[in-house]
Amino acid sequence: MGRITLTIDNGPDPHETPLILDMLHHRQIPAHFFVVGMQAAHPDGLALLERITDEGHVVGNHTWSHRTPFGENVYPSAVSEEVQRTADLLAPTVAHRHCFDLSVAVGAWTGACSPVH
Ligand SMILES: [Zn+2]
Repeated sequence: MGRITLTIDNGPDPHETPLILDMLHHRQIPAHFFVVGMQAAHPDGLALLERITDEGHVVGNHTWSHRTPFGENVYPSAVSEEVQRTADLLAPTVAHRHCFDLSVAVGAWTGACSPVH
C-alpha cells in the first residue's frame, strides 16, 4: 500500500491553524506544516510552532516572505536569504524534532533540523 503526505502550507495562521490542528488531532492524522517565516515570527505564530511540533507534525521551511517565486527572483542570494532567515527562526523551536529543511536544497543548511524519514 502506498503512502501519502499531507502538507499544510502558508501558515501558521492564528485563526486557521488551530482549527486544522484540532481536526488532525481528532482524526490522528500526521501532517507536514510548511511555514512562512514572517508569519511564524509573530508571537501567535511561535506558539503555534510549538503546538505543531508538540503534536508530532513535521515543520518545513516555506521561505521568509513567500512573495516572489524562486524562479522569478533575479537575485541569486535572495533565495538563500529567504530560506536562511526562516531556518534561523525555526532552529530554536524545531531543532532535534521533526523538521524538513529546505535550506539543504539551496546550499544554506544550518544543521538545525534532524533528518525526516
Ligand atoms: Zn505557499
